[in-house]
Amino acid sequence: MLEALLSLSGLTLLSTSVFTSWSTSLNLLFFYLTWSTLLLSQAPLKIEVLGTLAVRLIFFWIPSLLFLLFDTLLPSLSQDFKIRGAAALPNPRKSWKVVAWAMFNMLLGAGIQAAVETFLIDGIHWKSALRVSNALPMPGGVALDLLKAFLLREVLQYYIHRFVLHQGGELPQHLHMKWQHSVASPWAAVAHYDHPLPWLLWKFLPVYLPAVIFRFHILTYFLFLAVVSLEEAGAFSGYTALFFSALMSGAGRRVEKHFGSKGKGNFSTWGVMDWIHGTTLRSSASEGKARGRGSRSRSSRRE
Ligand SMILES: [Zn+2]
Repeated sequence: MLEALLSLSGLTLLSTSVFTSWSTSLNLLFFYLTWSTLLLSQAPLKIEVLGTLAVRLIFFWIPSLLFLLFDTLLPSLSQDFKIRGAAALPNPRKSWKVVAWAMFNMLLGAGIQAAVETFLIDGIHWKSALRVSNALPMPGGVALDLLKAFLLREVLQYYIHRFVLHQGGELPQHLHMKWQHSVASPWAAVAHYDHPLPWLLWKFLPVYLPAVIFRFHILTYFLFLAVVSLEEAGAFSGYTALFFSALMSGAGRRVEKHFGSKGKGNFSTWGVMDWIHGTTLRSSASEGKARGRGSRSRSSRRE
């Protein structure tokens, strides 16, 4: 109780000095009380697993399915926004399969999180992999945790994607066996469409492992997962310009080129590791041709 009061007063003091706003302080107070009530009424494992799935639903699936709806219902309008024009529209016969496998992979990831926590807590009576505690993380700590996690994720994704899934890797499913690279051009749900083994290695581990290594507070993990989910939905959407972020549009073009080249480069989302290792793909003539084809098919349809 005393600890809760101390955290609460510390948080209120910090938020007041940073934001100098009573309404912000009241919002934080309300958030803290809601969080404390949730902790009292639900098991930490349930909060972690259901929270993870809820974050994925809100920040990945809702935007991804809206993009898919737009591509399916208004293809002639949607292709105008696609990097590769009409060639980038999802195949309606395959889209259900892509969505189902992507959802399965996410459930698999949440199941692994539950198994890890159960093993650590009930199996070897150790502390949980992620912190589920009453005290809210401080803004400075959250920012530092997110920075470390994004850097580690960039490094892990680059090496796993490049050396395990593409260049001489022992897992050919990602490139050769009708999984992720069987899709001609990315669209949002394709971000998580892969054979479960490659998916675990380059989509699940690079996000979960940094959170475990730095033993994130569960709320920091949810925030990290929310940003990652929005980034994945945007970067794989195939749209030329994502109106909310120039940075995201750059990530989208990098993903598109990775698919267009059948995995010759652009192995990391943000391109930092590609830049360091010289595997950044430049604009290719095929991209221009594809857009040209898209424009021609549009004009022929309109005729
Ligand atoms: Zn790839």
